[in-house]
Amino acid sequence: MFVTAIIAAGGRGRRLGGELKQLRTIGGRAILDRSISMFLMHPAIAEVVVALPQELVESPPEYLRSIAPEAFALQTPVKPVRIVAGGGRRQDSVANAFRAAAAASDVIVIHDAARPFASADLISRTIAAAVEAGAALAALPARDTVKRAAAEEAEDPAETGSQRPRGHRTRTVAETLPRDTIFLAQTPQAFRRDVLEAALALAERDGGEATDEAALAERAGKTVRLVDGEATNIKITTSDDLLLAEAIAADRSREASARQRIGTGYDLHRLVPGRPLILGGVTIPSDRGALGHSDADVVCHAVTDAILGAACLGDIGRHFPDSDERWSGASSLDLLARAVALARHRDLQVGNVDVTIVLEQPKIADHVGAMRAAVAAAIGIGVERVSIKGKTNEGVDAIGRGEAVAAHAIALLK
Ligand code: MG
Repeated sequence: MFVTAIIAAGGRGRRLGGELKQLRTIGGRAILDRSISMFLMHPAIAEVVVALPQELVESPPEYLRSIAPEAFALQTPVKPVRIVAGGGRRQDSVANAFRAAAAASDVIVIHDAARPFASADLISRTIAAAVEAGAALAALPARDTVKRAAAEEAEDPAETGSQRPRGHRTRTVAETLPRDTIFLAQTPQAFRRDVLEAALALAERDGGEATDEAALAERAGKTVRLVDGEATNIKITTSDDLLLAEAIAADRSREASARQRIGTGYDLHRLVPGRPLILGGVTIPSDRGALGHSDADVVCHAVTDAILGAACLGDIGRHFPDSDERWSGASSLDLLARAVALARHRDLQVGNVDVTIVLEQPKIADHVGAMRAAVAAAIGIGVERVSIKGKTNEGVDAIGRGEAVAAHAIALLK
């Protein structure tokens, strides 16, 4: 079964604190980044289509650039990310994204970018219900007693001359609704392809509008199943929601800290005359350099392997084979940055790395500062979290005879 995820992030009007809501960071990560990652990491999702405001389509944030298109294509299985421009209304954004979805997709799952905390289990259950029923959405049963307000809003005569702002309206209760039949719609909402196609086509024909896609399917006469939603699957709309979101993110991060992971990496290259000696992205004056297909930077290669190892993502040769033209002569700092992006899509961030370079000569002490800065920049962390140390092999073995340079690295991911 081929499942396409559509992330609706096309809204440009509602801003929180002067910036686009979807770019606000929660616990150090943008809301949009979190929402997209949930689906990229989900094993049932084959592709992701993101509907963005035009300004972001033209200049996407860094985390979207790093996954679209090449970096993510390195993952197996390949999971493409497509970016489309949003429309005037939410349903227009979804329609644009739907047109960009693969023709092979059987089920489309739509999610609000503003809900960055849906669980993988909720996504799975919503997809499974849509396969059975045709359409399904996550929804929470109402916990408060629900009142329907009278449609007519009267200006309260008692308000005349009061301190309240002009135009203030009072509302009255028309009825109390039986709470057990009231559900509050969330996303994800999932649809069999034909169901969503019919719902969008009807809306297109009759100009109908809706605040979610399930409502369009209901109008088209389709069965829509309710799936138990999650209280933490909040939609971030107001600054109050940001407080709650930070608390949820902090809780998740505590959970994540309990899952800290470490990995080790090792690399060795022969030293030959006529090659540059590049270590940690820095060219070091030397009469010999490291032999290799790429720039043969043992520091970057060992750190890349340590990060991939901690994330259980294999090794540098699997992701960047030197038989592939794309990586021949590639900057190893660039490969390192790509490995960090791969780990990030597993929701793993680099905590720190520690490297030991084993090299008989030349001395590298004067270059350690520049190497640490370059490696830290490639990883996207502070230089205080990158340690690089030098050792000789005391004249012993091939390294001791100056025939090779090696590096050992360890990385902590969390
Ligand atoms: Mg190497």
